Amino acid sequence: MLYSDPSYLDEIHTCPYCNEKMSCCEAPPIHIGDGLGWGSEILFICLNDLCSLFVEGWKNIEEKYCHHASYRYMELPGSKESNLMMVASKDAYTGSIVDPQALKKQNERYRNEQQAVKDLTTCVQEKNLDPVLFLILDEAANLSDRKKAVSYLLELNNLSCIDPIRNHTFRHSELEMACNQIIPLLLKANYKKECPHCFEIIKAQAKKCPHCKETLKTT
Ligand SMILES: [Zn+2]
Ligand SMILES: [Zn+2]
Repeated sequence: MLYSDPSYLDEIHTCPYCNEKMSCCEAPPIHIGDGLGWGSEILFICLNDLCSLFVEGWKNIEEKYCHHASYRYMELPGSKESNLMMVASKDAYTGSIVDPQALKKQNERYRNEQQAVKDLTTCVQEKNLDPVLFLILDEAANLSDRKKAVSYLLELNNLSCIDPIRNHTFRHSELEMACNQIIPLLLKANYKKECPHCFEIIKAQAKKCPHCKETLKTT
């Protein structure tokens, strides 16, 4: 998983050339200079087009190397280690800016998923519906873990899973179908049914829905 250590996402780096806040960017996979990785998934780069380093860089590089390029100032997270990144246009790296808040959320979701997968192994003995429901309803979670979670629904025999599942929009029809197969079994095991008119869960033998008062066909 990318961004495994989000602690640096709270870091604020300020460019010593322009005093502007530096952008948090996804590191390019290869360090062009020596063929090694940066050792970090994130780099802080000053993308200020008015930064003196960047403005003067064009002239300096042109004079020194007869090459149309400039520099951007870069710092590695968790350190004051800095580098000058050669760029051929002002747009370089602007496409790899990441939003630290979004990354943190993504990380948190991933950690919760990992925890739910772990808790799945003991969910039946602990009668814990939470990890099962979390995985079933998390569209970003691993599909085979979600399928596994569905397979525990019957054993857990907890009717409170029905409403959240019914109200969820599944992207995988396969998963939705698996849930739709289990819910009637779960209801039946508890002598319940869903009212076909208002979808409230009611007694299996009810002839009239106590919620919407509709008369029900007995099966
Ligand atoms: Zn700067
Ligand atoms: Zn009803």
